[in-house]
Amino acid sequence: MTGILDKKDLEAKADTVVERIHNYLDAGKKVFTSSSFQSQSLPLLHIISRVDRDIPVYYTNTGFLYPETVQFADQLKRDLGLNVIALRPETPKIKQLDTAGRFFYASDPDHCCYLNKVQPLEPVLMEHDIWINGVRADQSSVRAAMAEEEPATHGCMRYHPMLGWDSKMVYYYRKYHDLPEHPLEAQGYQSIGCEPCTLKAGEGNERNSRWFGMNKTECGLNTTLVVGGN
Ligand code: SF4
Repeated sequence: MTGILDKKDLEAKADTVVERIHNYLDAGKKVFTSSSFQSQSLPLLHIISRVDRDIPVYYTNTGFLYPETVQFADQLKRDLGLNVIALRPETPKIKQLDTAGRFFYASDPDHCCYLNKVQPLEPVLMEHDIWINGVRADQSSVRAAMAEEEPATHGCMRYHPMLGWDSKMVYYYRKYHDLPEHPLEAQGYQSIGCEPCTLKAGEGNERNSRWFGMNKTECGLNTTLVVGGN
């Protein structure tokens, strides 16, 4: 194996991330990360576990996640010793219906993402200085336009260590470290989010299987919680 997929090269890249996070911690910054607990999340979670297993790893159990995702989060918490913290939306599902009685994910997915993903994470941003976020440039045009460091809302700074990684690098890092895959991948899922907004197979980019048929391609965490986002 040569080039960027070489184990030594990937380790060097991972070491750079480890060092950067150590620098934040040494400077007294309060650091957290968030995760969607997909197979592609594994390199960053593994790197976090190498730095400091007390770093909080937040995710929102929206109530619409696949049970397999929640189980995978529990498994990784155990196997990697991560400090996984599940958040819950404040707004009960009964108040997440539009005037026609449909859940907002069917008629206004941006508002649904706001209630179920963005709002629960806002207090976390207020309490921390650095948000380690695993977005990759090859996932969407919104992500491709991001910088390695990007101001988030609520006085927090986003750090995007995986921005230059691609799906092959993720694959080989997982392979070299014998890291598990999300149980639904074996059934043909590529990008796994909430159940109502995920299809089994996408066309081309793996994220095409999210919000299929809706005028939405990006999670609110990566738009609403970025300074200058929408
Ligand atoms: S991904 Fe879909 S179900 Fe989940 S919060 Fe966003 S719109 Fe709602």
